[in-house]
Amino acid sequence: MGLMEDIISLSKRKGFVFQSSDIYGGLNGCWDFGPLGVELLNNIKKQWWQSMTFRDDVVGLDASILMHPRVWDASGHTKQFSDPMIDNKTTKKRFRADNLIEEHIQKLRKKKKTDEADALEYKLEHINHNSDLYDLIIEYGITDEGSAEWTDVKNFNLMFKTFVGPVEDSSAVVYLRPESAQGIFVNFKNVMESARQKVPYGIAQIGKAFRNEINTKNFLFRTREFEQMEMQYFVKPGEEMKFFDEWQGLRWDWYKNLGIPENKLKLKVHEKLAHYANRAIDIEFEFPFGFGEIEGIHSRTDFDLKQHQEFSSKKLEYVDTVNKERYVPYVVETSAGATRGLMAFLSAAYEVEKIVENDKEDSRTVLRFDPRLSPIKAAIFPLVNRDGLPELAQNIHKDLQRHFTTEYDSAGAIGRRYRRQDEVGTPYCITIDSDTQSDNTVTVRERDSMQQEKIAVDKLKLYLLEKLS
Ligand code: ATP
Repeated sequence: MGLMEDIISLSKRKGFVFQSSDIYGGLNGCWDFGPLGVELLNNIKKQWWQSMTFRDDVVGLDASILMHPRVWDASGHTKQFSDPMIDNKTTKKRFRADNLIEEHIQKLRKKKKTDEADALEYKLEHINHNSDLYDLIIEYGITDEGSAEWTDVKNFNLMFKTFVGPVEDSSAVVYLRPESAQGIFVNFKNVMESARQKVPYGIAQIGKAFRNEINTKNFLFRTREFEQMEMQYFVKPGEEMKFFDEWQGLRWDWYKNLGIPENKLKLKVHEKLAHYANRAIDIEFEFPFGFGEIEGIHSRTDFDLKQHQEFSSKKLEYVDTVNKERYVPYVVETSAGATRGLMAFLSAAYEVEKIVENDKEDSRTVLRFDPRLSPIKAAIFPLVNRDGLPELAQNIHKDLQRHFTTEYDSAGAIGRRYRRQDEVGTPYCITIDSDTQSDNTVTVRERDSMQQEKIAVDKLKLYLLEKLS
């Protein structure tokens, strides 16, 4: 099995991620987070939320998923939020045309045809029309199952449509939001006035977004329902580049400080910019299938606020009473995927390590999560299930559980119990043995070093709280 399959299999077996509607054969592009997955996801979101809102100039928001349909006219999504789609006439399979070419580039790189790959990448970055994509697919002989019979490239709008109320006609159409950002733009004034913020200031939001992606693949990487963590920072026009640099640095450090090795991160500068942007960069992570975007940092100018001002006829200006000026602020946004990020943290943490135990060579699967992200913080084991040890262990378990997630495990040999916790990334295992009765100590074993330490029971809670923070 490949690395990706190993991670997917572990995710299912241990209860991180299941297919949506599994017993019905699954629903493409949708996933459910199991008991450990939801803890991990919540921990990622908590770290992000704190990094954003534990400062004076960023406040939070939770806007609704369904919004007034005019929002999407103003933002440009009804007209322009589409991907180029192409069908193979022989295999009847549908693809995103740009992704087909990207995959071909990866194949060329694998075959060490670097010059050809670079040339194709350059051409892909500079295409202007859908017909250019078609021409590249033909020119490079890209096939599906050997067939080069392709249709023209057409645009496919990615927004999911539904209806409000009982009548399913065009006046009742609403969309599931394809990004959380617009909820922030339309609340720019509400938030500024109620939270008494002054430019520069930011609004942070975590929430679901939906895109009817043409192809879903690579596990959580491209799904139809996903979660975003977005922050829009409103600045004075002309000051956006300074804040862009600042946020880019902060976001890079966030991943690094939460345990993603820097050699697995890369910045990709966008040469071709979206119609609303004057600068854009992606933070990419090296997934088992190659580098892919985990977060976009965009300088969106005043495009969104000006559009909403025009479409709603409500002024969305900032009045600077000190300098006696008024303007529509520019926006620097950081847009991260929470669920795609979870996959990055999971892939970065995953390791199958060779170990020697009792003079025997063995291996263990370990998730080396930063303890702040670990779904379970400590596991408690009574060495044997007699002589009062289970009662002592339960007391310690219940006491620690008031502060963080713990698991009680009394089944099987201690070595097996360690392995079970290593596999889900639990940083500390605590064994209660006869010493606990005689001198009030427990053995704490650390996941990565596998070092064991004797700790007094009355110092245990503080010891762990310090290590976990
Ligand atoms: P792509 O080019 O890969 O379709 P994008 O550039 O449209 O992505 P953005 O609109 O910038 O992506 O979205 C911001 C973040 O939201 C991305 O960095 C990613 O982490 C997440 N994201 C976007 N689309 C999806 C999806 N279909 N599934 C999971 N996460 C997604």
